Amino acid sequence: MPFSRSIFITLAAVALSLVVPLSATDKAAPNVIVITIDTLRADHVGCYGYKAIRTPTIDSLAADGTRFDRAYTPVPVTLPSHSAMFTGTYPTLSGMHDFSGNVLNPQQPTLASVLKENGYATGAVIGSAVLDSRFGLNQGFDFYYDHFDFNRLQESNLEEMERPANAVVDVTLDWLGKNYQKKFFLWMHLYDPHHPYRPPPPYDKEYVSSLYDGEIAFADAQVGRLIAFLKQKGLYADSLIVLSGDHGEGLGEHGEKTHGFFIYNSTLHVPFVIHLPAASSVKQVEAPVSVADLMPTVLAALGIAVPAKVQGQSLVPLIMGKAKPGDRTLYSETFLPRIHFNWSELRGAETANYHFIDAPRPELYDLKKDPGETQNLFPQKKAVGEEMRGKLNTLVREYSANQELAQKTGLDPALMERLKSLGYAGFSGGGDPNASNRDLPDPKDRIELYELISEAISDAQHGRLQESADKLTTALKTEPNAVATRYLLGLSYYRLLRFEDARKEFTRVVELSPDYTLAIFYLGLTNARVGDFDGAIASLKRALELDSTNFSAAFNLGVAYLQKKQIPESIAALRQSVTIYPDYAEGHRALGDVLAYAGQPDEAIVHLRRAIALDPGDPRPHVSLARVLAAKGLNTEAEAEMQKSRELHR
Ligand SMILES: [Zn+2]
Repeated sequence: MPFSRSIFITLAAVALSLVVPLSATDKAAPNVIVITIDTLRADHVGCYGYKAIRTPTIDSLAADGTRFDRAYTPVPVTLPSHSAMFTGTYPTLSGMHDFSGNVLNPQQPTLASVLKENGYATGAVIGSAVLDSRFGLNQGFDFYYDHFDFNRLQESNLEEMERPANAVVDVTLDWLGKNYQKKFFLWMHLYDPHHPYRPPPPYDKEYVSSLYDGEIAFADAQVGRLIAFLKQKGLYADSLIVLSGDHGEGLGEHGEKTHGFFIYNSTLHVPFVIHLPAASSVKQVEAPVSVADLMPTVLAALGIAVPAKVQGQSLVPLIMGKAKPGDRTLYSETFLPRIHFNWSELRGAETANYHFIDAPRPELYDLKKDPGETQNLFPQKKAVGEEMRGKLNTLVREYSANQELAQKTGLDPALMERLKSLGYAGFSGGGDPNASNRDLPDPKDRIELYELISEAISDAQHGRLQESADKLTTALKTEPNAVATRYLLGLSYYRLLRFEDARKEFTRVVELSPDYTLAIFYLGLTNARVGDFDGAIASLKRALELDSTNFSAAFNLGVAYLQKKQIPESIAALRQSVTIYPDYAEGHRALGDVLAYAGQPDEAIVHLRRAIALDPGDPRPHVSLARVLAAKGLNTEAEAEMQKSRELHR
């Protein structure tokens, strides 16, 4: 019998009234500390039975609180997993399926926004650019320390823009030092165990045979500094502390090196520890729980009403030993194969006994007998499989919204542009990603291809363009009509300045997928590079029709028109580029130049000054401005601008 919701709520209320007399309006309401450690497999932590590592901090936190032996993320990707933790909702409602330019809806309540309304000082310190405030998880935080230099994105890899744990803890302790006398909520995110594995000394030597473990041991030691601070200030015992992983790591299981592509427990199962303030609790919970339970659990423990639409459940009754584990089914998904490669998405349902994965070839694992999920029983146990499929369909119906909440736009255009050019933003020719299509390739038939393409993307992001092109060419032998792969090959050729080869690839992509916006955009750029300005104009106009936020398409369209001496059209397109992206220095400079050429000096001056204000280190707009001013007879001002340009040239 499934545990009925009303019984669960009643139990939660009873447990609360009996055991946790906490109220956030109370001055004595506990402080709340959430620590997330990225890419942390539960079975690589000491208190979860792993002998080859030392994680004394997590172990002692678990000894002082409750260890959940079977906690799972609904989605094995950093941003959507944290979104589930802090909103208590699944991606089917929040719309945070992937890392491809979605922004959390500002109307969606988060743990931070609710605690702030309840009088908490709220602070967060983040270890990775993938959780930058641009993606919306900063909602409700008075203090959100991200500060990643997105200008480095041109030459760097977003996932590698990280802040080491010691630096995260330094900033955290600095903020706590100023705020610990208030009632506070702190979220600290450590990114270190994420690939690539590069632990600092002495962990690099001590864990030389498993550098991943070295990163975990380092992160554990750094969490220890935070716990020591809490103990030193007498705050530890009375604080509500949660420690969680956001997803695991494949480490080669099922052919998956990292995470995000599959939904096996190698990447869904995470450590999850809750330390309630000075309240009796059970030490260990075996029932399956979701990281989406984090928010409602914290609020229930504090006696704060859980916002409507929250889908996770309070774990307080389980922690208090007041509830028998129900027959709960947990939902999981990954849309990464679908969004990036137009291969099938995966959805799963997991109970205490079984894990069902809805793929073109469905999978069923007996978790008691086969925790490593190596024997697919679906062909033999059709009845169990179909029952699990029924449970999954019920969850999908229950958790889905009429319209998902995430904002599909709202990232600043320059960042979106970089995400697109680095291959982050998704496949755009696949139609509605929520419409299931069982004819799409099964991800388990594509894992080797995926790892090869991932290496090719990594090569390209690190400037190894020829290696990237070679791997993509190999990948295309398996799947010649894979538009995303062919598009990436076109990009590598483009960056290698092999424009004729790039044009061939982009042309083929557009033949196969006529609305593939990014391929059309790059076809436009490539046409311009080979001197085909009519072709460039046609493609860039089409790219703008399909994506009205592509300021770079508008800019390059303006430049192409200029080549054709079509001055009014050029001015209109350049104007469009700075309307889409008002802080676009290059757009203002080019627009200023063309306006000056067209005999509109006053407006030219406005845009050139704007270009200078936006990019003070660029001498070119000073030179242009000097010429316009001189033509107007303003010789002293013109000479001053020339002087500035000479100073910048030095
Ligand atoms: Zn992560």
